[in-house]
Amino acid sequence: MIFLFIGKQDDHSLLISYYIAYNLTIMTDKFADIILPLAVRGRFTYMIPEHLSELIKPGVKAMVQFGSRKIYTGIVCRIHNDAPPYRNIRSVMEVADHVPVVNAKQLQHWQWVSEYYMCSEGEVMKAAVPGALIPAGETSAPLVEKYRPREETFIELSAKFSDEELNEILDRLVRSPKQSEVLTAYLHLTWYSPGSYVKPLRKSVLLKEAGTSQGIINSLVKKGIFSLVSLEVGRLRDYGNRSEPLSTLSNNQQVAYNSICSIFKRKDIVLLHGVTSSGKTEIYIHLIEEQLRQSRQVLYMLPEIALTAQIILRLQKHFGRVTGVYHSRFNDQERVEIWKRVADENPDTGYRLILGVRSSIFLPFNNLGLVIIDEEHDTSYKQHDPSPRYHARDSAIILASIHRAKTLMGSASPSIESYHNAETGKYGYAELKERYGSIKLPDIIIANTREAYRKKLMVSHFTPELMDAVDQALGRNEQVILFQNRRGFSPYIECPECGWIPVCTQCAVNLTYHKGINRLVCHYCGYSSAIPARCGNCMSPGLATRGFGTEKIEDEIKIIFPDARVARMDQDTTRSRNSFNKIIQDLEERRIDILIGTQMISKGLDFENLTVVGILNADNLLNYPDFRAHERSYQLMEQVSGRAGRRQKQGKVVIQTSDPSNKIIRLVLQHDYHTMFRMQAEERKSFNYPPYCRLIRISLKHKDKTLLNRYAGILGDDLKTIFSRRVLGPEFPLISRVQLWYIKTILLKIEKEKPAANARRLLYESIERLEKEKGATSLRISIDVDPY
Ligand code: ADP
Ligand code: ZN
Ligand code: ZN
Repeated sequence: MIFLFIGKQDDHSLLISYYIAYNLTIMTDKFADIILPLAVRGRFTYMIPEHLSELIKPGVKAMVQFGSRKIYTGIVCRIHNDAPPYRNIRSVMEVADHVPVVNAKQLQHWQWVSEYYMCSEGEVMKAAVPGALIPAGETSAPLVEKYRPREETFIELSAKFSDEELNEILDRLVRSPKQSEVLTAYLHLTWYSPGSYVKPLRKSVLLKEAGTSQGIINSLVKKGIFSLVSLEVGRLRDYGNRSEPLSTLSNNQQVAYNSICSIFKRKDIVLLHGVTSSGKTEIYIHLIEEQLRQSRQVLYMLPEIALTAQIILRLQKHFGRVTGVYHSRFNDQERVEIWKRVADENPDTGYRLILGVRSSIFLPFNNLGLVIIDEEHDTSYKQHDPSPRYHARDSAIILASIHRAKTLMGSASPSIESYHNAETGKYGYAELKERYGSIKLPDIIIANTREAYRKKLMVSHFTPELMDAVDQALGRNEQVILFQNRRGFSPYIECPECGWIPVCTQCAVNLTYHKGINRLVCHYCGYSSAIPARCGNCMSPGLATRGFGTEKIEDEIKIIFPDARVARMDQDTTRSRNSFNKIIQDLEERRIDILIGTQMISKGLDFENLTVVGILNADNLLNYPDFRAHERSYQLMEQVSGRAGRRQKQGKVVIQTSDPSNKIIRLVLQHDYHTMFRMQAEERKSFNYPPYCRLIRISLKHKDKTLLNRYAGILGDDLKTIFSRRVLGPEFPLISRVQLWYIKTILLKIEKEKPAANARRLLYESIERLEKEKGATSLRISIDVDPY
C-alpha cells in the first residue's frame, strides 16, 4: 500500500490516505449528498462506507459529523460518483433504517422550494418533517427515533373461558356484587357471545362505563379472571367507515363541475370562482369522490381558521376512515402518526384524503391525484417566519405537477394573481354566480359614521343602521356577527394633555390596552406592562383609551343588548386547543346571539340562522399602507358578508365607514369583483407590481441603528449597480423595530419574463459580499420571495 504515498500528494492520494487513516476500505467510490437541519446553503457531500452501501438510498436518515465535533441527523437526497472539489471528505457514520422517511417526490419538491424561496434544503426539511422523526438540532444519541407509539392498558379475559366456566365464575362472585357487576359490564361492552373471540377493552372505558374503581378491577385480576395488557393505540381520531351518498349537484353546479372536468383534460390548474355559499365545497366533494374511486390521494387545503369541525364533519360523512386532518395544533407525536398514515399505501389503513393547512404540502403523499386550494386568496397560505418563507398555494401547484396531479383553486374573490393567470389562459376558469338554492347575496348597507357622529346618532361605536339591524335580528331570534379587525380593548392609550402614547420598549409599536388582564400588551413581541398611572411625558394623571378592539365592542354590546348572549372570537379567546371549536359549536347550537370577532370569523363558517353581519370599521382595512390593501379589504368584506343569510333567506350586512364614497366599498356593495380586479390590475400594471413583476424583499436587522444604516446602504448601492432601477430602498418598514432589532428593507422588482435563477444568483453574490464586510457578523439578513 505504501506506493500510494509516493510522488506528489494530489487530492486523490490525500483522499486515499484519509481512508487508510480511518481504516476504511477503498472499495466504493460513491458519495451521498445529505440534507442537514442547517440554514447553510448548498449540499453536504459524504463518503459512503462499504458497510453502509447496501442501506443507503435517497430518503433514508443518516447520521454525520459536521464541523469539528457536531453530529447531525439528516436525510440522504442523492447518491452519486462526482467527487466534490475539496479534501477531507468525511464518511457517513450511520444510517437509521433502510425504509426511507421521505420519498423521491418530496425531495424533488424540497429542492424546488429551496431554490425558489432562496433558503436551504435543511430549512425546508425542518419545516416539513416532524421533529420526532428528524431532530432539528444536533444529535447526541445515535439514531433513536423520538416517536413513541402510544400504549394504553386493555383488559382481557385471562383465559378462553367456555360458557359454563363463565357462568361458574359469575356464580362464585355472588358475594362480591360489585365485581360481578363489572364482569357483566365487561361482557356487554365487548359484545361477548359464547365461543366468540373477546376483544380487549380499554381499561379507561370499563372504569367509566361500569362506574367502577381501580380496586375492583384489580381484585378480578387477582382472582385470575381478568388480565391486563398494554397495547398500541393511535393518537388520531378515527372517523369510522361512513359513506353517506353525495348530494345531487344543482344545475349550475353540474355545469361548473363538467366544465372543470373537461378543462382538466387540457390544463392542470383550474380556478373556480364562485360566490359565497354557491356550493364550491359540494363540487370539491364530488371531485374527491372521483379521485378516491381511482385510488388516488387528495390534498384539500384550507386556511387554518377555516379548518373547523364543521367542514371535517361534512367530509368524513362521505369519506369516513380514509380522511385525515392536519393542522398546527397537533403535537409532534400526532404529526408523526399522520405522516405515517399519509405514506401508507394500504387503502385500509392509509389516508387518501387530507384536509390540511399550509404545512400539509409537506406530507409524504404517495399518489396524489388532486390538490384543492380553498380560499386560494387567503394570506395565511404564505409563511412569513421562519424560513422557508413559502407560499403554500404556489408550492402546492408544484407538488401537484410532480405527482402529475391536477390543482383546483376556489374563491369567492380570487387573488389578483390567480385571476390574472386565468385571464391570460395559464389557468382554466369556472364560475358559479349564484348561491345554492338561488338565495340572494346579502343586502349591503353602508353606514356613514362621520355623519352619525356629527348628528350625535352614534350609540358608542354603532351607527343607527347597525343598531336597527342587530335589534331586528335579535327580535327574530336570529344570530349576528360583528367584525372588527383588532383585538384587545383599545389599540392605544394616550395622554389627553400632551398626546404621549406608551410604546413597546423593544419594538416601534404602540401598546394595546387589554382590559381583561388590565395591562398594555405589544402585539409584536408579547411584552406587557402595567397601566401607567401618569403620563410618561407631562406627568398628568389619567390616560385615555383611543380607538376600539373586539374586547371593547364586547363590553359595549353587552350593555346595549343586556339580554343577548354575547361571545368573542379572537386570538385571546382561542388560545386553548378546543376553545375555537367550542365557540363554533355554541354558535351552531344557538347558545350565542352575537359573536364579535377578528378575521377569524370571516372564513368557512356556515350557519343557517346567521342573518346579520356588521363590519365596524372598514376604514382601517382600506388605509393600510400596502399595495394589496384594497384587494384585501375587498376580499375580507366580501368574505365576512358571505357569512350572512346562507340558507333560507337573504342576509343583511352593515358596513360602517367614514368615507362612504370609497370606490372599494362601492364595489363590495355591488358584489362587483370584476371591476375591482380591472382597477387593481391597471394600477399594478402602471406602477409595476405583481402580477406584472416578481418581488423579492431583503430585510436587514441590526441592534445598532447606525450600523444598520451603513450595511443597508452598502447592500442597496451594490444591488443598484447590478439591478439599477429595479431596486427600491433601503427604507425603514412600517414597523421599524421589533424585539430590539432595527429593520430596514430593500425591495427588488424582477421582470416576469427574465429568468429568475440569474437574479437569485446575483442577489446571493451581493449578500455574500456584504457578509464579508468588517463587523457584519451581527447583522441578520433574510430574503422573502413573493412577500405578502
Ligand atoms: P361555498 O363552499 O361555495 O361557500 P357550500 O358548499 O358551503 O358553498 O354551500 C353552501 C350551503 O348550501 C351549504 O350549507 C351546503 O350544504 C348547501 N348546498 C350547496 N350545494 C348543495 C347541493 N347540491 N345539495 C344540497 N345542499 C347544498
Ligand atoms: Zn402628557
Ligand atoms: Zn414589542
